[in-house]
Amino acid sequence: MPPTAPAAEALPHWDLSNVYPSLESDEFAEAVAQLSQQLEALEAYLDQHRITRTTNGSAAGLAPLGAAAMAAVVNGSLERFNRLMRLSTTVQTYVRAIVATDSFNTQARRWQSRLEPASVRLRRASIRFQGWLGAHAALLPEALAQAGPAQEHTFVLRELAEQSRYLMSEPEESLAAELSLSGGPAWSKLQGTIASQLGVPFEHDGQSQVLPVTALQNLMWYHPQAEVRRRAYEAELAAWASVREPLAAALNGVKGHVVTLNQRRGRTDALHQALDDARLDRATLDTLLGAIQASWPAFRRYLQAKARRLGHTDGMPWWDLHAQVAPPAPGGARRFSFAEAQRFIGGHFGRFAPSLAALAQRAFAKRWIDAEPRAGKRGGAFCMWLPTVGESRVLCNFDGSLDQLFTIAHELGHAYHNQCLAACQPLQRVTPMTLAETASTFCETLITDAAMAAAASPAEEISILETFLIGATQIVVDIPSRYLFEKEVFERRAEAELSADDFCELMLRCQAATYGDGLDARYRHPYMWAWKPHYYRTELSFYNFPYAFGLLFGLGLYAVYQQRGPGFVAEYEALLASTGQAPPADLAARFGLDLRRPEFWQASLAVIEQRIDQYLARG
Ligand SMILES: [Zn+2]
Repeated sequence: MPPTAPAAEALPHWDLSNVYPSLESDEFAEAVAQLSQQLEALEAYLDQHRITRTTNGSAAGLAPLGAAAMAAVVNGSLERFNRLMRLSTTVQTYVRAIVATDSFNTQARRWQSRLEPASVRLRRASIRFQGWLGAHAALLPEALAQAGPAQEHTFVLRELAEQSRYLMSEPEESLAAELSLSGGPAWSKLQGTIASQLGVPFEHDGQSQVLPVTALQNLMWYHPQAEVRRRAYEAELAAWASVREPLAAALNGVKGHVVTLNQRRGRTDALHQALDDARLDRATLDTLLGAIQASWPAFRRYLQAKARRLGHTDGMPWWDLHAQVAPPAPGGARRFSFAEAQRFIGGHFGRFAPSLAALAQRAFAKRWIDAEPRAGKRGGAFCMWLPTVGESRVLCNFDGSLDQLFTIAHELGHAYHNQCLAACQPLQRVTPMTLAETASTFCETLITDAAMAAAASPAEEISILETFLIGATQIVVDIPSRYLFEKEVFERRAEAELSADDFCELMLRCQAATYGDGLDARYRHPYMWAWKPHYYRTELSFYNFPYAFGLLFGLGLYAVYQQRGPGFVAEYEALLASTGQAPPADLAARFGLDLRRPEFWQASLAVIEQRIDQYLARG
């Protein structure tokens, strides 16, 4: 990889025109009309077959049913649900994509709100179906023995029936679904709006500017001058402090909403649902967390070594966590133009599998990627799936750094996973978060290794190791701090609301627990709870440990790939195609991996610790 200067190039915005030409188009209006017709047809079908959840969850009071009749009704329902989900996901994702790149677009935001009742109706219909399925669970094995769509959905149907015990009665679930529009999810929207529109005054390059938080964070993480990074950190904390009251109210609203529903649904705690959604048991999570905790001393050694190199005496200050120790090449830190990122990723994906390279080629050529950071666009990165066109879209905030190169590889991994799942029906492709990060981690690891192998100098190797370790530290050290934070927030929120001070104090304490003396106690980040949108999702609590699971699971599979070579690809793609239809432990077992044993996780962590040793040795 020859070092290059940042090229002044126009970064792409994604092209959504083949989904719908615009929000004003006839095609979009037609899709919305279709959506409402399909919803009515589904509801009529459920009414006609008296598919409902009984108050006590039993079959008593429902019309008597035989296995063949049950299979027929299940088939009819599945067909309608799948068709509706395909359309509804596309329409909602299309609108969400517009809002994600332009939160000032009031028309798109209005559509977002107008479409919400459709999601509520779909959710209500699925709860009716699930309750009915649970009431007839005794008949299910016999019904599944009949060939047809029901049989192809065996795993999904069994899980739905099993989980139906945690449903409230139908009127209660129905009320909860309607109230959710003005409850938890509304608080979540408030956080999104505040965070994306927060302007921070900042003196930079001799000018006084008002920057969006994402731009400020880019300066904090990546600016070559330590003094600018530090001032950006201080400005960021001050900005969050200025909106901490509405954000604390929002977080209390979201968590209170989840706590209330969990109690009414008979869940042990908030983790209970997250584990069931992840298709994971508590013992496996504990094994994973135990292995992670045992690796913290190695990460602290890395952070302390890095701190010393940067001239800090008491561990790392927050603003330098993403800083590169040494400029890897004369003339400054290594940068990529967007075109170079495309060539590098495409080339190395091709060495793994032509199918992966072709996917990346399509994503760049068809403008699936929205790369330019701009006001009103949300921070971070994600990948979304648009079922009716069978394509993904990727959002990132490209700044030419190695970190962004890895981010694009990561998000394209999600797109690759989506492609492997393309033949599945919507109900068959619902992938738990634990497996949702498998392909992304794998692709990111491919590109990291490729970058390491192509390094032109020891300085560049350090830079790559550093970029990898910065990411690994986020997942193995920062993510557990978020897990500890969220766990305690849920416990305390069940008793009473927390104040903004409570949230800050707890956040600092959790960072101290995981970073230890790797982080300078004076310069942690008390407002991580304010900025991370993950805490504000009512339907997704503990949006953290699955990342750790995903990274270490992906690394474990990568180790298998290194042993088996190209023969691994077909089996791996089959695994990705099945992530909606088996628990992670069963999928891992196909490769002879046992997730309930610490050895599996230790082996993945050893890959990271090896890189820490390499990093320390190059000091
Ligand atoms: Zn991801």
